[in-house]
Amino acid sequence: SARCGMEAAAEARPRVLVVGAGLAGLGAAQRLSSSRAFPNLRLLESTGRAGGRVYSQRFGTVVEIGAHWIHGPSKENPVFQLASDYGLLDEEAMSEENQKIEVGGHPLLPAVFYSNTGRVLSPELVEGVRNLFSTLLDQTREFLHMPQVSVPSVGEYLRKEIAQQVKEWTDDDETKWLKLAILNTYFKLECCVSGTHSMDHVALGPFGEYAMLPGLDCTFPGGYGGLPDCMLTSLPKESVLFHKPVMVVRWGGSYREESQEGRTFPVQVECEDGERFLADHVIITVPLGFLKEHHETFIDPPLPPRKADAIRQLGFGTNNKIFLEFEQPFWPPDCQLIEVVWEDESPLVEAGTDLQASWFRKLIVFLVLQYGHVLCGFIAGKESEYMETLSDAAVLRALTDVIHKLTGNPHLAPPKKVMRSQWHSAPYTRGSYSYVAVGSSGDDIDALAQPLPEDAADPRVMALLSHLGTVAKECTVALGRSLGRLLSSAWEVPWEVWCT
Ligand SMILES: Cc1cc2nc3c(=O)[nH]c(=O)nc-3n(C[C@H](O)[C@H](O)[C@H](O)COP(=O)(O)OP(=O)(O)OC[C@H]3O[C@@H](n4cnc5c(N)ncnc54)[C@H](O)[C@@H]3O)c2cc1C
Repeated sequence: SARCGMEAAAEARPRVLVVGAGLAGLGAAQRLSSSRAFPNLRLLESTGRAGGRVYSQRFGTVVEIGAHWIHGPSKENPVFQLASDYGLLDEEAMSEENQKIEVGGHPLLPAVFYSNTGRVLSPELVEGVRNLFSTLLDQTREFLHMPQVSVPSVGEYLRKEIAQQVKEWTDDDETKWLKLAILNTYFKLECCVSGTHSMDHVALGPFGEYAMLPGLDCTFPGGYGGLPDCMLTSLPKESVLFHKPVMVVRWGGSYREESQEGRTFPVQVECEDGERFLADHVIITVPLGFLKEHHETFIDPPLPPRKADAIRQLGFGTNNKIFLEFEQPFWPPDCQLIEVVWEDESPLVEAGTDLQASWFRKLIVFLVLQYGHVLCGFIAGKESEYMETLSDAAVLRALTDVIHKLTGNPHLAPPKKVMRSQWHSAPYTRGSYSYVAVGSSGDDIDALAQPLPEDAADPRVMALLSHLGTVAKECTVALGRSLGRLLSSAWEVPWEVWCT
């Protein structure tokens, strides 16, 4: 019958498995399912929800456990495009004017600097130090394409320059110490931005490779999670399977389904629950943190050395958020950012290593959320990973102490509620995002993006590099390169069609 014929034709279409239903996996599936040569498509997601590191929750107001901003929201940015097509952004974010603004990083928000001695620091003093830090940081981007760097890391370069400059400062001793303490705050902020424990781990040479698109960073009024929700809804319902953690991707053989004589498949994927799926192509979008922990057993036969080295060498660190809800704000009404300065610290003095005694010192900034009296604190590195092991009550106690110090008011009512992310403990993420670590470079990112088998016209296994810092860059790399190759080779569609 005609129906049987259609079913047989559908069966004969290439089978594609996508592992992971974060933005990369959803984006890949969306592209494939809108193709004329629509494949048999399946998405396997380990957890019970789509979105991965995009995860909105309610906490008095909508809060983002994972990604918060669209960085560089302008035409070239696929996340911005999708979000505006779905009508998820407000008018200001969509305006042509906003899309043209170039800040070259995080925009400056009205901030108040509190110190641990209970005083608010002078805005003039802070501004001078901020200018110094951003000048030095700009310099670190100039080493791109230089054959040699004097020191391996961004952190070492900054400290060397600061040590030089201090000698020329004419301030009194107290001001000097205070300026160093403020600089230390900026070091910790950069750790949050790069998702690293220390800027000494971030490679100096390739630091300038990170390009920013134009556009003033914007957020999703209804939550970032609206984006994966819309993308999920656009896919055929039965194509996404939740609670299906993939244990191993076998790509070295020829596999046959019991029921289907004749047809063989080059890839077999086995889930933790023992269920197996056969496919012509697999698109892997699991985070680098997961690959670092499991790549030796996750891919069989193992990855070629070039890819395994890239996984080992690229950095993947932790940046967590701690949300605190207050009965009453203690900060001034127009303040959008509260920055924390520990006056006894300096980038030129080695930090203490007693996590239990001082983990909370790494939490360096609170974002004031627009609705409710909610603060969102950021904390990166080993201290952040340690924080994940504590109870909510212990976190609340420690931060109440910090806020008492900052305000100089030991009677200030503690926050009503606390909630935090725990990205390092999440078994299918194992951290927050990646960075180019000392010993690696952008070439490692490219090496990971290459499909397998190497140099074959018909790729079987592909990695979508969606774990790399910003979603924008990742989606572009992922869709442009890997999907383009897959679609062009598998269905003879010119790849340009897919790389808009
Ligand atoms: C705290 C935090 C703040 C951030 N802030 C921003 C920001 O403001 N702006 C920005 O642009 N980016 C930000 N990012 C980065 C951004 O969230 C990520 O780059 C992006 O979401 C990655 O998408 P992805 O699809 O590659 O990976 P993920 O979203 O991690 O998706 C991977 C999916 O694979 C699943 N998976 C893993 N292992 C398996 C397995 N074995 N089998 C099946 N499924 C598996 C996971 O459960 C997950 O759903 C932030 C990230 C964090 C953690």
